[in-house]
Amino acid sequence: MSSREIIALGTSSQVPTRYRNHNGYLLRWDEHGLLFDPGEGTQRQMIYAEVTVTQVTKILVTHFHGDHCLGLAGISQRISLDRVPHEIQVHFPRSGRKYYDRLRKASIYHDVSRLRPCPIEGPGVIDEGPKLSLRAARLDHAVETYGYRLQERDGRTMLPDKLAAAGVRGPAIKRLIQEGELEVDGRVVRLEDVSVPKPGQSFAFQEMVDFLLEKQIAKYKLPERLEVRGELPTVGDSGKINKEDLKKDIAALLQAEKG
Ligand SMILES: [Zn+2]
Repeated sequence: MSSREIIALGTSSQVPTRYRNHNGYLLRWDEHGLLFDPGEGTQRQMIYAEVTVTQVTKILVTHFHGDHCLGLAGISQRISLDRVPHEIQVHFPRSGRKYYDRLRKASIYHDVSRLRPCPIEGPGVIDEGPKLSLRAARLDHAVETYGYRLQERDGRTMLPDKLAAAGVRGPAIKRLIQEGELEVDGRVVRLEDVSVPKPGQSFAFQEMVDFLLEKQIAKYKLPERLEVRGELPTVGDSGKINKEDLKKDIAALLQAEKG
């Protein structure tokens, strides 16, 4: 099952408060871990949130004000210390290159990390994978700033009853997805006959924050975490969300994460 959630490691700007750390957000998206704007103290916040630097596959810095990047020094060194085996691309506005370099070498350590700087030259697609693409767009701020959007490719949801009726099962399903059609017992089964389109999910954190602020939600009420769910428990067939069951589901999830 795919697991997609955002963990807010900190939501305070310029000055952290007793209860809010500097910025820092980890977006977990299937096997990916995107760390946005590691502000000061992000390493420790990750310990509280029970996530590790090995789960990070990409780092994205919107701009080089301290509350969005001072934690990069500590995170770089932790990635090295923990011997994270994979390469981690770090995206940031090109004009901030000198700050990136300083943060990477802020103090003495034996650097074995595999961080790869990927300065952004301009708006557009900055990374393209088989299932996801990542876009950067300029944001309006006092210094050069980029916002990021993760976009999943459109896919299809297979319909088990139609697959069964068409006699497609086991490894043949994968072949049908790859090839678009398949011959079963002398008949041609087309992918569109046994599946429906599934639009790719997309995520831009700023959109969520903007939406909540537009709804006049107080800043201190902004969520610390966003959990994307395929469906929600409902009260009978009414379509009304069963909040009690939802609370129980979430409590069970948190319990399971604690182990
Ligand atoms: Zn700023």
